[in-house]
Amino acid sequence: MSKPNLISRRGVIRTAAAATALFACPAIAKAKPRVVVVGGGAGGATAAKYLRHGNDAVEVTLVEANRHYVTPFTSNLYLGGLKPFESLTFGYEGVAGHGVGLVFDQVSAIDRDKREVRTAGGARLGYDRLVLSPGIDFRWDAVPGYSEAAAERMPHGYRGGAQFELLKRQLDALGDGALIVIIAPPNPYRCPPAPYERASMMAYALKSRGVKNARIVILDAKDHFAMQTLFIDGWERHYPGMIEWQDPTIHGGIKAVDPKAMTVTTDFETHKAAMVNVIPPQIAGRLARDAGLADASGFCPVDAGTMASLIDPSIHVIGDSAGGEFPKSGFSANNEGKIAAMIIRADLIGDRRMPVRFTNHCWSDIAPDDAIKNGARYAPQDGKIVMSDPYTSQLDESPQLRAKQAREAAGWYIGMTTDIFG
Ligand SMILES: Cc1cc2nc3c(=O)[nH]c(=O)nc-3n(C[C@H](O)[C@H](O)[C@H](O)COP(=O)(O)OP(=O)(O)OC[C@H]3O[C@@H](n4cnc5c(N)ncnc54)[C@H](O)[C@@H]3O)c2cc1C
Repeated sequence: MSKPNLISRRGVIRTAAAATALFACPAIAKAKPRVVVVGGGAGGATAAKYLRHGNDAVEVTLVEANRHYVTPFTSNLYLGGLKPFESLTFGYEGVAGHGVGLVFDQVSAIDRDKREVRTAGGARLGYDRLVLSPGIDFRWDAVPGYSEAAAERMPHGYRGGAQFELLKRQLDALGDGALIVIIAPPNPYRCPPAPYERASMMAYALKSRGVKNARIVILDAKDHFAMQTLFIDGWERHYPGMIEWQDPTIHGGIKAVDPKAMTVTTDFETHKAAMVNVIPPQIAGRLARDAGLADASGFCPVDAGTMASLIDPSIHVIGDSAGGEFPKSGFSANNEGKIAAMIIRADLIGDRRMPVRFTNHCWSDIAPDDAIKNGARYAPQDGKIVMSDPYTSQLDESPQLRAKQAREAAGWYIGMTTDIFG
C-alpha cells in the first residue's frame, strides 16, 4: 500500500488538527464540520468536490486506495482500439484544488459508534458525516471454478485499470479462429449494456486487425438484455456470424470454468476458448458490507431523497453500492454524489436544499460512428427512487443519427470527467 503523499499528509494533518481543536477548546466547538468521503471514483470524487465547491465551511477529506482512477466508462472503446489507456486515467489534483484533503490509502474499517474511519496505513479520521462510494464487489464463488486469482487468467474487466489492460493484452494476442467466451452476469450490475458493447468492441478490434473466423459466444445469466434488438441488429450489420448470444434456456447454466485449461462448461457443452471474460454477479463494495450497511440483496439500502443509509443515517452510500432502483452507472453515481453533498451541506451548515431530480443516459458504441442510447428521468418518492419517461434508440435510425450519438457519447465523457475531476 502506498504511503500518503504530501497532499494527503496535509489532509490528514488538517483533519487531525480540527479534531484536536474541537476537544481542546469549547470556544471552537463551532469548528468546521468534518466529512470523510471514501472512494474517489465517479460517486465519491464528485461528492468530495461538491461538498467544497465554492464554500469552505465544511472540512472534507477524500480517502482513495489509488493515486489514479481509471474510468470503467468508455473502457470498452480502449478495448476496441478507439481510445488510448492514458485517456481513461485521472489524478486528483483538480479535486484537491477545491480544498479537499486527500489520503491515498485503503480504508480497512469503519467504527460507526466512534464515527471514525481507519486506514491500512494507520490513519484514524473522525467524521460528522461519512460518504461511502466504494463501487462494486463480486460474488466470486457464484461461477464454479472462478476466484479472484482466476481473474488473472480469465479477467472480469469490470473494475480497476489493470483488469482492462489484461483484457486488451489478451484480445490483441488472438489469432485466426480464436473463440472468446463472455459470461454475462444477472441483474443488478454496473452498466447493463456494457457486456454487449464489450462484445461489439472486441469484434471491431478483431475485424480491424484482419483476424479470420474469430467467434464471440456470450453465455448470459439473463433471458434478455438492455437494447437487445439494437445490439443484435448491429452485430448482424457489422460483424455477421461473429457474435452469438445464448440465454439460460440455450446453454442450460454455467457448470464450471477452468482457468488452466481455458474451458467453460455449460449444461450442454464444453467450450475450449482462447479468451474468457467472466463477469461475476455483483454486490456492494466490501467496505460497505463489512460496515454492516448492506441488506440481504448485497447492496446498501438508502433513502433516495438524501442517499442516507437506512441503517446508519450519518453515512451516505452512493454509486454502485447503493441499493434500490438507482441505475448503476457513472452518470447516476455523479448525480448521487451531488445529492449527498447538497443534503450534507444543508444539514451541517444550513445550505439550501433543492428538489432531488436527475436523468441518466447511457450510450453504447456498436462500431465507430454507430452508437445507440437509452435513458430515463429519476426522482425520489416515499424514500425510493422512481423512474419515469424511459426512452431507447430505435432500429430504423439513420446512420447520421447513430454517428451523432457516437459524438454525443464522446462529448458526455469529456463533460462528465471534467465535472468529477476538474
Ligand atoms: C465496461 C464498463 C462500461 C461502463 N460504461 C458506462 C457508461 O458508458 N456510462 C456510465 O454512466 N457508466 C458506465 N459504467 C459504470 C460506471 O463505471 C460505474 O457505475 C461507476 O464507476 C460507479 O461509481 P462508484 O463511485 O460507485 O464506483 P467506482 O467508480 O468504481 O469508484 C470506487 C472507488 O472506491 C475505491 N475504493 C473501494 N474500496 C476502497 C477502500 N476500502 N478504501 C479506499 N478506496 C476504496 C476504489 O479504488 C475506486 O476508486 C461502465 C462500467 C463498466 C465496467
